[in-house]
Amino acid sequence: AAPVITIDGPSGSGKGTVARRVAQTLGWHLLDSGALYRLVALASLRAGVDATDEPRLRELAVELPVVFAVRADGSEQIRLGDQDVTLDIRTEECGLRASAVAVLPAVREALLERQRSFQVPPGLVADGRDMGTVVFPAAALKVFLTASAAERANRRYKQLKEKGLGVSLAALSRDIEDRDRRDSERSVAPLRPAADARILDSSDLTINEVSDKILGWARQ
Ligand code: C5P
Repeated sequence: AAPVITIDGPSGSGKGTVARRVAQTLGWHLLDSGALYRLVALASLRAGVDATDEPRLRELAVELPVVFAVRADGSEQIRLGDQDVTLDIRTEECGLRASAVAVLPAVREALLERQRSFQVPPGLVADGRDMGTVVFPAAALKVFLTASAAERANRRYKQLKEKGLGVSLAALSRDIEDRDRRDSERSVAPLRPAADARILDSSDLTINEVSDKILGWARQ
């Protein structure tokens, strides 16, 4: 099987940016698993499906007509059917709804095979919450990326601002705490480092430093 590097951690730990950088450097595929939960969330909001309606949410997850594409200018585009939802799935509303649907076992189960289908040569870098514990338990390198709560709120704030999605830092900190609590306390696939994961605190490191550290481990 193609090699896998998993990068798990709480929101704002920088795992998305780092995973993209590591995948680009190695020339490997990238799986942003959080995007899948966000897409189920968005689809449910648009279809008026309740966040607790497990059978309907499972159907949405199974059917999810997602396309991860690259635009002519090299930027990434995420489509749901024929709609460009690249920005729509990044809102806090969608993030919170994603963490609500992510507690449902039927939704997680429905997304499992889809996530594993990304494991193709020459290799995969997968980021999320349970990449090392549930989805790719045999991964050769597992990283658990952390950062202080304040630093994570700051990073999310900057990221959203760059995308033109302004929110207050205080509201963001609250959302992040809510989401962290829900992600770590849920009974299925709670946010937790795999037993064999390397734990990396990125609070005082730049994106480059974190990426280089992981690339160094990958080459060992
Ligand atoms: O990483 P991101 O913030 O995009 O993820 C959104 C939500 O999706 C998380 O708060 C989490 O509840 C859920 N998620 C998950 N398992 C993953 C990735 C994301 O439960 N592997």
